[in-house]
Amino acid sequence: MTVGILSLQGDVELHQFVLSQLGIKSAKINKLTQLDDISSLIIPGGESTTMSKLLISSGIYEQIVKRIKEKSIAIFGTCAGMILLANKIYDGREDQISFNAINVGIKRNAFGRQIESTFKTVVIRGDSEIEPSFIRAPRIADIGDDVVVLGTLKQTAEPVLVTQGKMLASSFHPELSKESCDNIVHRIFLEIAEEK
Ligand code: GLN
Repeated sequence: MTVGILSLQGDVELHQFVLSQLGIKSAKINKLTQLDDISSLIIPGGESTTMSKLLISSGIYEQIVKRIKEKSIAIFGTCAGMILLANKIYDGREDQISFNAINVGIKRNAFGRQIESTFKTVVIRGDSEIEPSFIRAPRIADIGDDVVVLGTLKQTAEPVLVTQGKMLASSFHPELSKESCDNIVHRIFLEIAEEK
């Protein structure tokens, strides 16, 4: 399997590094035709408004919408990527798009500004603990039907990692973790991507 990493903007290389540690090939995706070769995609953290514009101008937006409808692609959205997957965006720009792929409402920048960015302890599936980075991170404000919570903040039990169907989304950057965490969040995505 080759996992695509949307490479229009944002934190691409560290996802490639994590995947290589797991023995998985990856390919940068920044042109429409490159999407045909992949059935799993990571949308990295970065700036969701900038990615919105580039997704539309490259034609990639329309194609991903189609692939999501066909259920022929698994997508992991981290931080800005989570904003792009949400059904509803709070505090977004008017011209900002989303894939309407996960039944959650997401509030941008709700964990604070850049200088308030920090590592937080997240409990995954009730047992493993990781300490990833939250960078101008979005908060999951509403959770609708069919969404499963896979990760919560240790301190407050707030949901920060959710899945629905072939989609996975995190408020945080799992590729930027304080302690070695055996890349559990990427492994969860690979499980989702490999399910038929
Ligand atoms: N606040 C950014 C946005 O709205 C997301 C930040 C991130 O991806 N680290 O797109």
